[in-house]
Amino acid sequence: MRDHRELGSLLRRLNGKGYGAYKALEGAWRFAEFVLFVDHVQGDPFATPSRLRVRVPMEIAAIPRDFYRNKPRKTALEDFLVRSIARWIPMITKGNRGSGHSGRFGVVDFGQCILHRTAVWVTEEHVEAIVSCGLPAAGRRILGHEAAEMLLEELPELVRRALTFENIDKVAVREHVACGEDAEALREQLAERKLVAFVAEGAILPRESGVSDRPLREGAVPFTPPPSLAVILERPNCGPIRGMGIPEGVTLIVGGGYHGKSTLLSALAQGVYNHIPGDGREYVVTRKEAVVIRAEDGRFVCGVDISPFISNLPNGTDTESFSTQNASGSTSQAANIMEALEAGAKVLLVDEDTSATNFMIRDERMQELVAKEKEPITPFLDKVKPLYRDHGVSSILVMGGSGDYFEVADWVIMMDAYHPVDVTERAKEIVRRYPLKRRPEGGDRFGRIPLRVPDLSSIRARTPKGKLKIRASKMALQLGNSVIDLSRIHQIAEVPQTRAIGYILAYLAENGRRFAGKPLGAILEVVERTLEEEGLWPFLPARYGDLAAPRRFEIAAALNRLRSLRLRDGTI
Ligand code: ADP
Ligand code: MG
Repeated sequence: MRDHRELGSLLRRLNGKGYGAYKALEGAWRFAEFVLFVDHVQGDPFATPSRLRVRVPMEIAAIPRDFYRNKPRKTALEDFLVRSIARWIPMITKGNRGSGHSGRFGVVDFGQCILHRTAVWVTEEHVEAIVSCGLPAAGRRILGHEAAEMLLEELPELVRRALTFENIDKVAVREHVACGEDAEALREQLAERKLVAFVAEGAILPRESGVSDRPLREGAVPFTPPPSLAVILERPNCGPIRGMGIPEGVTLIVGGGYHGKSTLLSALAQGVYNHIPGDGREYVVTRKEAVVIRAEDGRFVCGVDISPFISNLPNGTDTESFSTQNASGSTSQAANIMEALEAGAKVLLVDEDTSATNFMIRDERMQELVAKEKEPITPFLDKVKPLYRDHGVSSILVMGGSGDYFEVADWVIMMDAYHPVDVTERAKEIVRRYPLKRRPEGGDRFGRIPLRVPDLSSIRARTPKGKLKIRASKMALQLGNSVIDLSRIHQIAEVPQTRAIGYILAYLAENGRRFAGKPLGAILEVVERTLEEEGLWPFLPARYGDLAAPRRFEIAAALNRLRSLRLRDGTI
């Protein structure tokens, strides 16, 4: 293996040459404290920066085994180290020096969640990290001395500061790892306690703004559990913790406008992920099979059985295998539910703010005016109970606008100036006092959960020229030449997850044989198991550092919105 002195002399020789000569850097270089792998060299100063990987032997990183002795701890430690790199880059590297991305180091973006990321991984043998590096140039001429400064001075300093136990903030890393492990443990206690979610006393739920996921700093009212719903769960690191447990079944969140209903529901939606210390939602946890359901008019739908909710459409459209390029509010919401169930959802999170009214309710007067035979929609109101009874799927609904739901609710929580109050008894009494003449329309059974077999060859991740193309943004995923609209998928925490979804779909497209004839649910099982056991690596063509693990539900969501998707039985 060549060593860092040779790298120094190579860079001096390259000074002033054309940018393409940087290719000579590819390969491994031995440094005193780590090995540098130059995995990819960019083609020009404006292209995606070069990809570097450093491997630090554990004797040098010296992180005690205790910090990564189990999976939640290891994930949290790796997440911490990614943040550590990001924190040190601006402090010890000079930044821009030359054209394009010249001179800049970078690491993957991240938000408030502790996620499995590809940028750092820790084993007993070493700590490995992927950073991007804009190899410096003036115009298209190599700036060899600047490159030497970056790779031979700044990079070793970055490794030392960000990745060795001696230098990292020990209090912070301990807290990060404990926090991740504790949240995971809380989530694991939910099922055995027959709970679907837990919100700790003192949690800060509101966010800084509609575009920031950071906690609201001023005037945030800490969460207070109502005594009747208070439970105490255990944390392996920080001991017992009290909070509100939301039981399985049907739970309504009611209350006046602006009293914090949607904020609570959003926190529950994000409770499928663990959060970093200081987020305010560290100990807000939801069962990992919880899925946000909303209306999403305009979306594509491919052969979904929405007949539990919708049948007898006026144009005779088949709703047992419903396909459309342009769903309505109600059909999109029905499809969203059926697809979530197909992917294994056990909890549905529904907010009236983002629901189709005619999907949620159909009241007595409307039943009088529009006969059942003339209304294709069976409202969620009539299906939410059978869904729990037949399939064990719980629902949490924000519903400030219709008391009809009192009839079917097991629990009613009222948000009162950001404080939850258990009003179940009062709601039940109101049901007794004002009995509805409304006729239930849903029948006794919920109906079947779809079992579609996707034709994976209909996923085209390559451009017509055969190039793998995956571009992720906050709103969309581009796969080959198709763009998948993800702007209304609430539980994608970060763009790196979207990018990972792209690679997973591409993997499915290219390994279609392995999954041939398997229903979507079973394919997702395999993908999820692989993610759990081996991480994202098996899905990637190379060691990319800009990915974070997605959930199976968001993988399914992207696939279901891919307009080229076809089913095996030729439904569409
Ligand atoms: P609702 O859905 O009941 O109409 P929202 O959840 O949208 O209400 O909340 C209304 C506003 O109150 C939002 O700006 C939100 O950030 C803020 N808010 C929510 N919960 C809290 C809280 N616990 N403390 C302070 N402000 C809050
Ligand atoms: Mg609201």
